[in-house]
Amino acid sequence: MAETIFSKIIRGEIPCHKVYEDDRVFAFLDIGPLSRGHTLVIPKEAAATLGELSDESAAAIGRVLPRLCRAVMKATGATAYNVLQNNGAAAHQAVFHVHFHIIPRYENAAEGSAGGGLGIRWPAGKLDSTDGTQLAAAIAAHVA
Ligand code: AMP
Repeated sequence: MAETIFSKIIRGEIPCHKVYEDDRVFAFLDIGPLSRGHTLVIPKEAAATLGELSDESAAAIGRVLPRLCRAVMKATGATAYNVLQNNGAAAHQAVFHVHFHIIPRYENAAEGSAGGGLGIRWPAGKLDSTDGTQLAAAIAAHVA
């Protein structure tokens, strides 16, 4: 895949505010934070989307992600957070190197006013049970 700005950040060719690094994982502050403490957690492997990531990198991220969430919460005093992971342009992905956003939420919006905060539209539908049965079976059959 084509290299992105995140590969250059991992190699130290572009500066960042690093918060964590191990053999497979790198984490740093988002340059355009939605709120104070907005952190990006990325694999060193340059996969574009989560579905393309190796099991080894996925496991390494899964192992450290909760620890990084705790650290962001403790450092910022935020009361809640979202972990957001965008895949594909239609899903708002702008940098095509897998990344998890840790986005602190503050009870008092002014506290975390680095940005406007994360806005979420959640216009829920209703699962049709016939379609649900077929869909669940189809997804289960594709789990490799
Ligand atoms: P996404 O829309 O999920 O692809 O998010 C990409 C994120 O990368 C955005 O929140 C950007 O602010 C962030 N970003 C882009 N370039 C940099 C950079 N050089 N350092 C830190 N964060 C960056």
